Amino acid sequence: MMMVPVIAAGVVGLCLGSFANVLVWRLPREEQVVKGRSRCPECSVTIAWYDNLPLVGWLLLRGRCRNCRSRISPRYPLIELSGGILAAVCVLIAGLTPAAGAAFVFLYLLGVIAIVDWRHMIIPHTLTVAGMVAGLALAEFAGPGLQSAILGLLVGGGSVWLLSEGYRLLRGQPGMGGGDVMLMGMVGAFLGPWAAAGVLASGALLGTVYALIRGGGRVQGTAKLPFGTFLAAGAALVLVAGSAVWTWYTGLLA
Ligand SMILES: [Zn+2]
Repeated sequence: MMMVPVIAAGVVGLCLGSFANVLVWRLPREEQVVKGRSRCPECSVTIAWYDNLPLVGWLLLRGRCRNCRSRISPRYPLIELSGGILAAVCVLIAGLTPAAGAAFVFLYLLGVIAIVDWRHMIIPHTLTVAGMVAGLALAEFAGPGLQSAILGLLVGGGSVWLLSEGYRLLRGQPGMGGGDVMLMGMVGAFLGPWAAAGVLASGALLGTVYALIRGGGRVQGTAKLPFGTFLAAGAALVLVAGSAVWTWYTGLLA
């Protein structure tokens, strides 16, 4: 019986994964995301609805545009599949509950933000503002409670804003952007102030490790880093593993 809601969630997740592709493509280009049919990026022909079916369309076309035969990146079906798996796993673990919905919305937005920031070095406010609203709306049902969520939003966003301003005063250039401030506000709204601090620390750690690997052991201060991608990864880590790590850590102290 449990399989029916899990499969249904997986199908909805596939469609939302397909919408994630639309967001990833259109938001950085400041195009309309709700209206307008998808077009082939090569020949601009409108994609028929049956070719645009999540996963199935790409598989039937064997990864090529029906009109111009140019290759369609496997990134599209992979993102669709990720959406489907994410929704199915959320419902499998938490059932059809507000907790499953909150985890899905949070991880979905983090995923889209991580990809867009990685590719374009921007974090669209559309996503973070939607995340803040969702985080506050869900706080009483499946989050840290409304008071904690509001505090988390202010502390999360505020701390990054302060860090960024401090860096600007020291170095004369902005360290992190307004997008990072908004992202941490969204993270705080979903997780509360304490976990937001953990996310900021994990994001900074992941970003530093990446910069060290990329720089061959040295951090090049001038090389730009998609910090939002690392914050998003840190937030996903804290959501998935946070309570387990916390239990382990307090166990050590006891
Ligand atoms: Zn084409």
